[in-house]
Amino acid sequence: MTPGIRPLIAGNWKMNGTLREAAALAEGIRAGLDRSPDADLLICPPFIHLHVAAAAMGWKPVAIGAQDCHPKASGAHTGDVSAAMLADAGVAYVILGHSERRADHGETDALVQQKAAAVIAAGMVPVVCVGETEAQRDAGEAESVVSAQIAGSLPPDFAIAKGVVAYEPVWAIGTGRTPTEADIASMHDRMRAEVAARFPGLGEGTRLLYGGSVKPSNAVAILGLPNVDGALVGGASLKAEDFLAIAAAVPAP
Ligand code: PEP
Repeated sequence: MTPGIRPLIAGNWKMNGTLREAAALAEGIRAGLDRSPDADLLICPPFIHLHVAAAAMGWKPVAIGAQDCHPKASGAHTGDVSAAMLADAGVAYVILGHSERRADHGETDALVQQKAAAVIAAGMVPVVCVGETEAQRDAGEAESVVSAQIAGSLPPDFAIAKGVVAYEPVWAIGTGRTPTEADIASMHDRMRAEVAARFPGLGEGTRLLYGGSVKPSNAVAILGLPNVDGALVGGASLKAEDFLAIAAAVPAP
């Protein structure tokens, strides 16, 4: 953790479940929250499940997030959803530049930056994902790839809007594999230095999440690392008890 930064545990539900299952998952998280965790909590259902998940969550202090948005405010963009529409629906955070979107939809750093600017303009918080492929890590390029993604994907008002950066090595997503603790710590140190240099006086407070096969059994070790200010959780966020166990693994301040 980073002293003075409140951690964030975010669940990325991806393209999973039915309306009924989304409601049940949110309900399960709500019911299992018997004490306030030492972290902010966030769930990011598919667009079409945002409303039922929010309704099932009720008054509990779990924020609702989306998994993408269009950079434009409105117009002829069939199939897309704007940041303003998400804000209007009660969304507080938007995941952007996830490696699955970069791979499936050819999203570039420049596009992610435009989307992040739109999210901020709509009054929400962007969660910008960065991370190297396995080939890039094997070639010794992990740090330079992540640095370039940070430089290219964060808009100028990112830190003032309390934007979040998630380090998600592509090869660790959904595979059960994770980098060593030393590799996570060294990447997060580097990310901290970069956001601090880019946003003087503010980047020191930017939340840096780790994502990639986080589960209850490795959460204590990962969340205890310096400059790891929470987690972006995919598969394990689809089970209420696992998501809550990860939240409970956040070290006390
Ligand atoms: C993710 O896709 O954001 C992710 C971290 O997935 P998983 O936890 O399943 O590796």
